[in-house]
Amino acid sequence: MIKKPAKPARDTIAPSDLTFGLSTCKRCIWIKYWFKVTLPGQFPIVGTLSKLQEAQFRGASMPDLDPSLRPGKITKWGEWVKSDYISINGTKTPWRILGIYDVLAENDDGTLGLIDCKVSESERDSGQFYAPQLESYAFALENPAVGKGREVASMGLLVWKPNSVLGDNATNYGFGVEQKYVPVEREPETFFKVIEELITVIDGDFPESGSGCGTCNYLTQRLGLE
Ligand code: SF4
Repeated sequence: MIKKPAKPARDTIAPSDLTFGLSTCKRCIWIKYWFKVTLPGQFPIVGTLSKLQEAQFRGASMPDLDPSLRPGKITKWGEWVKSDYISINGTKTPWRILGIYDVLAENDDGTLGLIDCKVSESERDSGQFYAPQLESYAFALENPAVGKGREVASMGLLVWKPNSVLGDNATNYGFGVEQKYVPVEREPETFFKVIEELITVIDGDFPESGSGCGTCNYLTQRLGLE
């Protein structure tokens, strides 16, 4: 059993922890927030693909991406946002949101449009799976640590699903993708529920490892070989 130090090693919550951190096993989340030790990612190409995708939409018109979106243009990408302190059930916590959004549009009516870029063929990209993560960026934009908040009128995923190979000679090929904008409904209540769950996990004792991630099983088996 690992003992907690006097205080957590960080005081900000990463938006992705609201999607992935709680859905598999809570032990690594606990270790991350108390000791700043993070399980290395296993998807090295995902970041590169997302960056290439983001770059395509700089300056893009929102209704061109999807007719349901308010008139506006993508004016910002890859910027850090930090929120004010999060309150749960009227009580202020010591936690803030800190993260980098993918792309952000300024709508003509003064509101904002938030988009998360994904290169994926996963059926999980249905939108609501990512709602707490996107909602945490919306919370930070509407309740920033510094300055005035702006209303986030829309959130969504811009998904590229690889579906073909392009190219006409032996050395120059690329992947073709099917593009889909997936709207994500605003769900502040779910966001606060998930944040509360995350804070409860962090404040609790060292959690059991879950069954959704095979890394600990692998380590146990590997150490058994020594
Ligand atoms: S099973 Fe182990 S490695 Fe995987 S998330 Fe849980 S604690 Fe982390």
